[in-house]
Amino acid sequence: MTTLFISDLHLEPARSDITAQLLSFLAGEARDAEALYILGDLFEVWVGDDDDDPFVDQIGAALRAVSDSGVNCFFTHGNRDFLIGEAYAARAGFDLLSDWTRLELGSETVLVGHGDDLCTDDTDYMAFRRMVRDPQWQLNMLGLPLAQRRQLAVSARQQSQANTANKTIEIMDVNASAVAQLLRDHDVNQLLHGHTHRPAIHRFSVDGKDATRIVLGDWYEQGSIVRWDETGYQLEQLTR
Ligand code: MN
Repeated sequence: MTTLFISDLHLEPARSDITAQLLSFLAGEARDAEALYILGDLFEVWVGDDDDDPFVDQIGAALRAVSDSGVNCFFTHGNRDFLIGEAYAARAGFDLLSDWTRLELGSETVLVGHGDDLCTDDTDYMAFRRMVRDPQWQLNMLGLPLAQRRQLAVSARQQSQANTANKTIEIMDVNASAVAQLLRDHDVNQLLHGHTHRPAIHRFSVDGKDATRIVLGDWYEQGSIVRWDETGYQLEQLTR
């Protein structure tokens, strides 16, 4: 039984190479898995489930075909697509997960999520995150006309790029204390996330116990997956 994990595709119509690679993955090896977890930032932007852009329908239909084929599909929000709601989840055939989810995979336990809430050194981002994750803020945003939400998304993206350009790599990486606390809170020693776009397997210790943090990569230049089966896990690069 294989469980697959992907994140940080940052899909958008302008990046047809990423879309093509995802569609091929969804029509191919994803069908052989027992479960597929998308750990956030599937889309570069998300303005609401009522978005009538054919692109979001195309991706939703491709995901839906995977769950229709018998694969259990799950999604957790990223910092780009945090407005994905139950309506799109139903269309795309996946279940929405809360921020961190504890999974039992065979004899192993792993905590999975996007990971942006671990970047606690980025205080500007953490403040932004508190704002946009507030249910009332989300209701207000989704109450605006679609055209206005599209405009806001463009300016938010430009603002984000300007902010990111001024931040060091250290500030935008996970904070070691936040990671340790998360593992303690959930009583696990294995963590799997995306967001930082720095695929790696980190081994460290928390309170004297061995711990592992697996980081998925983005799909900008290649695909990145974690495959978990009876023999353990592999962090793999999918070339294109
Ligand atoms: Mn992210």
